[in-house]
Amino acid sequence: MDFNERKLMRYSSPFHEHRLDFHRPKSDVSMRVLLIEDEKKVADVVARGLRAERLAVDVAYDGLTGWNLASGTEYDLLILDLMLPGMKGTELLRRLRQKGGTSAVLVLTARDLTSDKVENFEAGADDYLTKPFAFAELLVRVKALLRRPPAGRTAVLRVGDLEIDRLTQQVRRSGKRLELTGKEYGLLEYLAANAGRVLSRTMIVEHVWDESFESLTNIVDVYVRHLRAKVDDPFPTKLIQTVRGAGYCLQAECPT
Ligand code: CA
Repeated sequence: MDFNERKLMRYSSPFHEHRLDFHRPKSDVSMRVLLIEDEKKVADVVARGLRAERLAVDVAYDGLTGWNLASGTEYDLLILDLMLPGMKGTELLRRLRQKGGTSAVLVLTARDLTSDKVENFEAGADDYLTKPFAFAELLVRVKALLRRPPAGRTAVLRVGDLEIDRLTQQVRRSGKRLELTGKEYGLLEYLAANAGRVLSRTMIVEHVWDESFESLTNIVDVYVRHLRAKVDDPFPTKLIQTVRGAGYCLQAECPT
């Protein structure tokens, strides 16, 4: 065991002392984290702590499962152990960046060699944490990474006269400030980050909600209605398009 579990346990509770402020309503879960760690106890304690911070956390206990999840879903943050069965962390990271994945990546390792750090930063890591670590240390880094717009991800999204500031989470249309709930914001940001692309209800549920059940896809229609009332109804140009049988798309003109 290369991990000081007792240290982790001691600092990992109570979680509310380290509660994060993501400028979102506390009842909403929108930030998605993928934790890839083969030490099950460590993974479970960290996952529980992050969920208590209202983050949506998926866990993979081996490299291949981690890669399958990371390559199929857009996560805001990956917490990646290096020594993993199936696929090593550094290899997974390299593949993710080659594929154009812009998730923030926090690397966990038992090793503290400078050459390892350099190799992993070159492979695309954003930050590095050496085991053993306290949960509070991890949380500080997670918080910093989630606030930082990843490389290649712009801080301000613009679609027509719509402007979304991802740092302050303020939304304006024609210069007029729009008040959105956390989920409405999450939905709009996802649509805007993929402007011009048709997003299925399933994709939307998986990204914006912490769920992946088909039965929840109706919720998307409800939230799109809420969003339209605020974003489109007061303005002459409609940006949120319904693509029949496919999903939704944000843009003045979308592929049909
Ligand atoms: Ca490991």
